[in-house]
Amino acid sequence: MARAPVVTRFAPSPTGFLHLGHAHSALFAHRLARAAGGRFLVRIEDIDATRCRPEFTDAILEDLAWLGLDWDGPVRIQSEHMREYADAIASLEARGLLYPCFCTRAAIAREIAAIGNAPHGADGPLYPGTCRTIPPAEREARRAAGEPHALRLDMAAALRAVPGPLAFEEVGDGLVTADPGPLFGDVVLARKDTPASYHLCVTHDDAAQGVTLVTRGEDLKPATHLHRLLQALMGWPVPRWQHHRLIAGPDGRRLAKRDRAATLRSLREAGHSPAAVRALAGFPD
Ligand code: GLU
Repeated sequence: MARAPVVTRFAPSPTGFLHLGHAHSALFAHRLARAAGGRFLVRIEDIDATRCRPEFTDAILEDLAWLGLDWDGPVRIQSEHMREYADAIASLEARGLLYPCFCTRAAIAREIAAIGNAPHGADGPLYPGTCRTIPPAEREARRAAGEPHALRLDMAAALRAVPGPLAFEEVGDGLVTADPGPLFGDVVLARKDTPASYHLCVTHDDAAQGVTLVTRGEDLKPATHLHRLLQALMGWPVPRWQHHRLIAGPDGRRLAKRDRAATLRSLREAGHSPAAVRALAGFPD
């Protein structure tokens, strides 16, 4: 069967300036697309209004252009598509796959401490399922009263709703069986403060933008198990994935946005050329 044309994307969150780790990620996606005669897209993941700032979006696009990257089509800005995420949430909810969770972080932490040996997933201890058993009438009354709540995926119900087992293709590794239950449990798909979540939006948008090869840091590899489940639930097309290594700082630690010396801005101000920065990011010309 002929393979779909390669479409990759770089999807930063505008919570700070791009650093060498982002440059590696962007170049990785760009080179794979261009080598295959495919398309390279840029998406700004800015649903978290408390942490994202428009001036970082402008800086990101300027830095990418300075680095020598060109992208195809308009940049997709997630905050302009909240209606689409709400529709996806509504569809999952209509099928009984989500439930409202009224717990505060502190209440969840107490509950987990009380369990003692609570199971751990990809992002820490799994939610103990406290709100899953609230009777429907009470749920609705609390929602109608405006009590703040997130929406969680009922993982067991979701797994029953898809033909299992699911698998995804990791380039280089072949087919990997998706096992999101132990990694994410009843994960939040719509947050209290934002009626969406990273997992929902990223999976929605990769489908909406026709991304065929998802490239990103290997720290996000576990999330792929959940994304594959969401694709199955929503009937979205299934891309391939190619996770890449994370660039380390001089001290061997993973780079974070707080490592100012490694930002593309500071490297540029220190007199590095785009080619020199591409080389530092692991992609010598
Ligand atoms: N927005 C995410 C980040 O900046 C990347 C999402 C992805 O590539 O799946 O870490």
